[in-house]
Amino acid sequence: MKTAIFPGSFDPFTIGHESIVRRALPMFDKIIIMIGFNANKKSFFPLEKRLKWINQVFQHENKIEVCVHEGLTVDFCKKAGASYILRGLRTSADFEYERAIAQVNKKMHPEIETIFLLTLPEHTPVNATIIRDIVLHGGDASMFLPAGLDRNDFKPE
Ligand code: ADP
Repeated sequence: MKTAIFPGSFDPFTIGHESIVRRALPMFDKIIIMIGFNANKKSFFPLEKRLKWINQVFQHENKIEVCVHEGLTVDFCKKAGASYILRGLRTSADFEYERAIAQVNKKMHPEIETIFLLTLPEHTPVNATIIRDIVLHGGDASMFLPAGLDRNDFKPE
């Protein structure tokens, strides 16, 4: 069984994230979207909402699971029996950041491969930080969010 973990903070889950998961689906038997939880870091959107949104986006997709994990992604991979970590790349800045993590992970856990998908050109500027800023200042970020979610839910807490 080929299982991949797609880890992230998903604060919020965007059309960029959704696209990476959908494009990776044919490559794996199962993709676990892992929301990284850090008890010492306050997120913009509460964990419950992020979980709910991702579950809603993939409600008809039986190859996808959504989980929350505090700690290293590689530890979660072992627990879940996953040999692949899926990540998306938008820019050279993403690449440099991701390269270091993937290479350290590979050194420490050679049995786990990190797989990168290049974002679609139209998703390159879609960035959770910018979306949070739009929401914080009362703007409408819906064009960057997956279809079918309740727009009224995307308000600052
Ligand atoms: P993290 O805090 O781990 O970077 P994110 O939620 O920001 O978590 O992103 C999770 C993954 O999705 C990362 O690999 C990131 O590069 C990728 N990603 C984020 N936005 C996009 C996008 N618009 N297109 C493709 N991949 C993206």
